[in-house]
Amino acid sequence: MKALVTGGCGFIGSHMVDLLLEKGYSVVVIDNFSTGRPSNLSHHNDNERLSIYEKDICDNKGIMHLFEGVDKVFHFAALADIVPSIENPIGYHQSNVDGTISILEAAKKNNVKRIIYAASSSCYGIPDEYPTNEKAPIQPQYPYALTKNIGEQYMLHWNEIYKLPTTCMRFFNVYGPRSRTSGTYGAVFGVFLAQKLNGSPYTVVGDGTQTRDFTFVTDIADACLAASDSDACIGEVMNVGSGNTYSINRLVELLGGKVTYIPKRPGEPDCTFADITKIRKLLGWEPKVSLEDGVKAMLDQIDYWKDAPVWNPENISEATKDWFKYLS
Ligand code: UDP
Repeated sequence: MKALVTGGCGFIGSHMVDLLLEKGYSVVVIDNFSTGRPSNLSHHNDNERLSIYEKDICDNKGIMHLFEGVDKVFHFAALADIVPSIENPIGYHQSNVDGTISILEAAKKNNVKRIIYAASSSCYGIPDEYPTNEKAPIQPQYPYALTKNIGEQYMLHWNEIYKLPTTCMRFFNVYGPRSRTSGTYGAVFGVFLAQKLNGSPYTVVGDGTQTRDFTFVTDIADACLAASDSDACIGEVMNVGSGNTYSINRLVELLGGKVTYIPKRPGEPDCTFADITKIRKLLGWEPKVSLEDGVKAMLDQIDYWKDAPVWNPENISEATKDWFKYLS
């Protein structure tokens, strides 16, 4: 079997590549290295079943030939994070929407058998119900969430019109080794681990009682592989979560160390919590890694974050100016 992973040098993509290689697949990676790093896959340097191409997913002509003979596509390449999506909506639209059509067309022309799309739970905005199921209203709060949801609609539309076998996986707060370390202020794990290494206090938003459905990255990769093996989920959208929701205070307790408090950001939910009944039913998939074990795995590799920016209340306030300006 041959798989193609877009964004395969990124955080989630690189774990998908690990799993596919472990299962005996030949793997083609397309990554433009904008946030992905080749070093995320350097442990496979000697593996002849892996080939990595520095290409942009929007370059439809340039990537077309890489889809020849591919059985499964895992489309993870995207621009992430909230703040830069508010500052650069055109760039987000290009990567997350135009890039997605480009992948769909390349897959269609090459008769790919399955396409798995990394959708985002951010489409639910501030949900009315917890745990939140796939039928909850779609209410994106910022351009990143909107572009990922439009990409999802393209995936489903190509299934309806062209009968392309697509499946959308709505990931909830993915964390784990190799989560992004550089650039903009982003997901809480990278922020806290860099603070821990630097001996700085954790910048807890609000009072830290808000909760997130922190889902370990290897559980995400397992779910995507299971989806690609099943016909039951073609043309479907499925939540992928941990089956639990954990407070930021609990995360701090597991990491250990001092805290400082920063203001609550507009548009952020007090809770994210996936209803995973559907994926359990369709795939028989179960999350395996608890927050306790996941945090331990990250602490074992904490050196990965040694060059990451160290955030504090002042530089966070500066970095999130547009967030407060436009979303309040
Ligand atoms: N968070 C925090 N301090 C930070 C960054 C984030 O306490 O410096 C909290 C944030 O309020 C949220 C959780 O961590 O409850 C996850 O935030 P992240 O930005 O990773 O994901 P999202 O808010 O998009 O779910």
